[in-house]
Amino acid sequence: MLDLTPKKITSRKGLRINPAKTCQPIGAMYAALGIYKCLPHSHGSQGCCSYHRMQLTRHFKDPVMASTSSFTEGASVFGGGANLKTAIKNVFTIYNPDIMAVHTTCLSETIGDDLGTIIAQADVPEGKRVIHASTPSYVGSHITGFSNMVKGMVQYLAENSGLANGKINVIPGFVSPAEMREIKRILTLMGIEYIMFPDTSGVVDAPMTGEHDMYPEGGTRVEDIIDTGNSDLTVALGSFASEDGAVELEKKCKVPFKTLEIPIGIEATDRLISALAKAVHREVPGVLEEERGQLVDIMLDSHSYFYGKKVAISGDPDMVTGLTEFVMSLGMIPQYVLTGTPGKAFEKRINRMLEGAGMEGCVVKSSGDLFELHQWIKNEPVDLLLGNSHAKYIARAEDIPLVRVGFPILDRYVHHYLPTAGYRGAMRLIEMMTNALLERQDRDCADEDLELVM
Ligand code: SF4
Repeated sequence: MLDLTPKKITSRKGLRINPAKTCQPIGAMYAALGIYKCLPHSHGSQGCCSYHRMQLTRHFKDPVMASTSSFTEGASVFGGGANLKTAIKNVFTIYNPDIMAVHTTCLSETIGDDLGTIIAQADVPEGKRVIHASTPSYVGSHITGFSNMVKGMVQYLAENSGLANGKINVIPGFVSPAEMREIKRILTLMGIEYIMFPDTSGVVDAPMTGEHDMYPEGGTRVEDIIDTGNSDLTVALGSFASEDGAVELEKKCKVPFKTLEIPIGIEATDRLISALAKAVHREVPGVLEEERGQLVDIMLDSHSYFYGKKVAISGDPDMVTGLTEFVMSLGMIPQYVLTGTPGKAFEKRINRMLEGAGMEGCVVKSSGDLFELHQWIKNEPVDLLLGNSHAKYIARAEDIPLVRVGFPILDRYVHHYLPTAGYRGAMRLIEMMTNALLERQDRDCADEDLELVM
């Protein structure tokens, strides 16, 4: 019999409205772009590949190259093995990359294509390589896809030759090329030899030359990824995006690793620089100490604008963790902290930070969505939003200033040339946040003046 007893509705569990994440292959495609002369390949339908390329192109404002297995009904029924083998042949003949990085899609994962076997049977030209990562989009997020592709790079390429190279591997996480360049600048200032992988600087921020270059100069060389197996240490920045790759490298090549946060804000940058200094037994160079001192000065100067202000932060887990710690160091209250990426480790980490600072009443959620964030804000508003372009609808509806940070940023330019990481990145964040708060304050004052005149 039909049970018509009214049920208590507690919370939404199985449905997401405006999820604060996107699909796995976008992260895998982005990671693959960080290898020199690599063509990312989407093993699925053309629609998936177009969507992933479009999201990355709109964020970076540069054409993003990728090929597809172009599934049709036949592949859906009989599997995509034949499509991938044809694609591998065509891609090397027509586009001539050094390496193809294949990622799966929902459809190929549901069919159950065994990519390892298909690639082993494929006709790969001499000297060329094909790697792959499984990226079913009904699990995790684009951050999981990035992590899986980094792991794939290690599984296929890294080798321990027995000859130590004296270098430090850095897995930068799902960050823009500006962050990668800033982290590399810090490493260079400290005189550290490193291998950053993947590295999308010089690829998605390549200069205009007047000619289309299918493979710009940037990206980690394949031989360097192979050499990561001979390094002294791997520094994984961001546990969600980078740790799995570092664990795999330790397993495969016995390279020890250290997981740190993406260096967003003063404390996370301090931790990175201290860990690097300790690893190579070197002093921190004066120029970095000077930058830190300048940042402290700016934090003190701007403190009155931040103190006690409530902020809602949404986006990718590693980025949001750094931002939360940073706003707390500015005296702000991270009232709502939300990521769309699943993983209770996120909630534990943020709650630990909040407890450490004696903050109560803040709401922290993984696997969340922007609709829910909007509801929380309607019940108890905040002074500032930190999030990607999708947060602008909340900003508009509730008249709250928004600082765009993270991925994707579709409606602003230049962001991926200017870092938010390191001491300099923290200065930029403060600039953006104070500007947003002051513009709002100026507007409120202008409205009051108008009322007085009227
Ligand atoms: S079908 Fe899956 S892989 Fe393709 S765009 Fe949609 S979520 Fe992403």
